[in-house]
Amino acid sequence: MKRLYGVIGSPIAHSMSPLIHNDAFLQNGVDAHYHAFHVEPDQLKQAVAGMRALGIDGFNVTIPHKEAIIPLLDSVEDAAIQIGAVNTVVNKNGKLIGYNTDGRGFVEALKEVAELKGKHVLIIGAGGAARAIFYTLALEEGIQLDICNRTVSKAEDLIKEFSLERIARSITVDQAASEMQSYDVVVQTTSVGMFPKVNDIPLPLKPIKQHAVFSDIIYNPLETRLLREAKALGAITQNGIHMFAYQAALAFEIWTGKFPDTDRMKKLVKEHLGGKTC
Ligand code: NAP
Repeated sequence: MKRLYGVIGSPIAHSMSPLIHNDAFLQNGVDAHYHAFHVEPDQLKQAVAGMRALGIDGFNVTIPHKEAIIPLLDSVEDAAIQIGAVNTVVNKNGKLIGYNTDGRGFVEALKEVAELKGKHVLIIGAGGAARAIFYTLALEEGIQLDICNRTVSKAEDLIKEFSLERIARSITVDQAASEMQSYDVVVQTTSVGMFPKVNDIPLPLKPIKQHAVFSDIIYNPLETRLLREAKALGAITQNGIHMFAYQAALAFEIWTGKFPDTDRMKKLVKEHLGGKTC
């Protein structure tokens, strides 16, 4: 029987997950279909019960349900518990098991362009995506992490919560800007610069370290002002398509045991968004 997968969220109509997962099923010879389900917060409990009752094989979870779904699942992997968010659920013999592939997806993508061992990394932002990314980057050997955020107390709280004071510090956005030349890698996780406010930038860049890598998890636009300016200053840049593809690929692997072609996923997303990637 054809297997069924999906994504729940609100809004969900413009999700690119069905596009890449349905293509990956075809490419990997998996007889399955992936569908986007619009679920409002007050319907989450019923939606999860429906997934269970229908025997849906697995699903992704996106905004605004990533935290709220945790108590509705049968078990949750440790990383997702620590991060406090689930973006992937697998149905194993009727038991719904939650995972988080956002942090690992980001780090796998970043490693395509950056060496992380012993590097000095700036994370801009302290929201949900930053939380998963911070938790996962902190596992890298010898890494030193600074987190700056508009609301600096959120960065402080994040570091305290994970007891990572030894390798991480919270700083103001101004401080990060003044120390920009010291960072090997800069990770932009806020919504600043996202469509339609494409001329916004979270902090001024000049000057940056030679050979620095800048990764912005935004993919609309494909090149944020931050990436454009960093590239003009000589940085290697990476946009949010790469994280999107890897978090999806890791979810696909959890469901099927097969790791799909991430370059193909990126290409599909890029074509869908109608632009050039970086
Ligand atoms: P979130 O939890 O709402 O966090 C938003 C972050 O942006 C916070 O750090 C917030 O600072 C900051 N921020 C928002 N408006 C700001 C402004 N005007 N000036 C300065 N800082 C501002 O959101 P999220 O879930 O982490 O998502 C953040 C971005 O990541 C979104 O653009 C989302 O599309 C993208 N994303 C991409 C992927 C991917 O696969 N590529 C995955 C997940 C998310 P405060 O704490 O001060 O409010």
